[in-house]
Amino acid sequence: MPQRSLNHAKLSLLLLLFLLLICGFLATSLASYYASRDAIHASIVETELPLTSDTVYSEIQKDLVRPVLISSMMSRDTFVRDWVMNGERDVDQMTRYLREVQEHYGTFTSFFISEKTHTYYQAKGVLKTVREDEPRDVWYFRVRDMAEPYEINVDVDMANQDRLTFFINYRVLDYEGNFLGATGVGLTVDAVVKLIDEYQRKYERNVYFVDTEGKITLTGAEGGPFGARTGQSLRDIDGLENLLSKLPKPQSGTYEYQEHDRGHFLNVRFIPELDWYLFVDKQDSSALAGIRQSLYLNMLICLLITLVVLALVGLLVRRYQQDIEALATTDMLTGLPNRRGFDLLAGQALREAQRNQEPLSALLIDIDHFKALNDSHGHLAGDQVLSSFASRLRDSLRQSDILCRWGGEEFIVLLKNTDHHAAYQLAEKLRQRINDSSFRFAEAELKVETSLGLTELRADDTLHSLISRADHALYRAKQSGRNRVCVEPAGH
Ligand code: GH3
Ligand code: MG
Ligand code: MG
Repeated sequence: MPQRSLNHAKLSLLLLLFLLLICGFLATSLASYYASRDAIHASIVETELPLTSDTVYSEIQKDLVRPVLISSMMSRDTFVRDWVMNGERDVDQMTRYLREVQEHYGTFTSFFISEKTHTYYQAKGVLKTVREDEPRDVWYFRVRDMAEPYEINVDVDMANQDRLTFFINYRVLDYEGNFLGATGVGLTVDAVVKLIDEYQRKYERNVYFVDTEGKITLTGAEGGPFGARTGQSLRDIDGLENLLSKLPKPQSGTYEYQEHDRGHFLNVRFIPELDWYLFVDKQDSSALAGIRQSLYLNMLICLLITLVVLALVGLLVRRYQQDIEALATTDMLTGLPNRRGFDLLAGQALREAQRNQEPLSALLIDIDHFKALNDSHGHLAGDQVLSSFASRLRDSLRQSDILCRWGGEEFIVLLKNTDHHAAYQLAEKLRQRINDSSFRFAEAELKVETSLGLTELRADDTLHSLISRADHALYRAKQSGRNRVCVEPAGH
């Protein structure tokens, strides 16, 4: 096969191998990536998120809903109601009661406001009298007039250096349902925000509360989704504009939505005691970053393996190619170049000699009556003689001379930098040396003679014309009785 198509075949093989390995690796890596992604996805949607939401909910139950229950109990407390209906006589009794609630349940504040006297009682005693024209007291009159039994209000607490407080304001009614006043407890917002921050850190989720109108009511210290602040509507938050309309009613359950190319898993849960929704949001990227990273690592390893395999196969193919080329140009019996090998070497030697105008002689050597030797001593003897004959020729020539087995019992020599005079002397010496020596095979000493045809390179010669002349000279040597050297053209 010509060299170019061999290289082409080698490149095709490597390319095919590369494609096979890359496709195989890609297919398995991507398949396992998608499988783990789906598994993670399913576990987030079906288990993890609802579970986190449940856990956060139960903590909220403890931390936020409990104050609602305490306030509810206060509003139904017969002591409170009787005390008011009996004319609010002993202030100490009420403050003791409020102190007891505050200390026992660990709330930040506790209060009662009487409708009859508009007195604001708290754990330390009477704080003040609420007035309708006082902006800070507006909440009380709102609670008085509202239809619902209670409200949750974030306001400053006058009793505690005006700290922002999360109040649960319960309406207190007498046994006939007449309004007696408002009672309840308060938590500092800081404490609630800290709680949310704790949930967020603990569960690596964004946790926030939204009221029934879609307004954010409470967030962690760093705000809600994308830094949104309390009071902002989800409709005004970039990326979440359409979220509310997409959430089915009632808004409870797990949903997925896209925000600026990022996937989100959102669990929404209605908390009836607060009349708020609890939003627990997990970003797709944080959940999938790990397996995406392992996909990249996987692909990198696959690429490295592919490259190493390709390099190894490339080296192996090159080694085999070199071996095959050597085999194709070498004669097995004598170890000399064969005719194909000779063509490669001779072409170059001829070009060099013609370019440098250096003499070069060609010598064709043929063993006389070799057929007879084969016939009388056997083919193995013939092989042995051919092999030893080749070694002796090799030993009698210079390193730079080109010697090859031309075929059968014929050899060809190109003598570099040698004109036909010097070549003739060498040929005679060779012939004489062969005549004088013998070849050992088994017990027999075999003797052979040779005929040699000699010619010198001309400026206009091709390899073919040069060899033809040498062949002609050999023919004359055979014709004129063998065991001699003939030069072509004759007379040289
Ligand atoms: P001539 O003097 O005219 O050259 O006679 P010849 O017998 O040497 O010439 P011919 O071309 O008739 O025969 C060559 C013989 O060489 C025939 C063939 O069997 C033998 N031969 C060719 N190659 C090998 C080989 O590799 N091993 C052996 N043992 N014999 C070979
Ligand atoms: Mg012959
Ligand atoms: Mg012969």
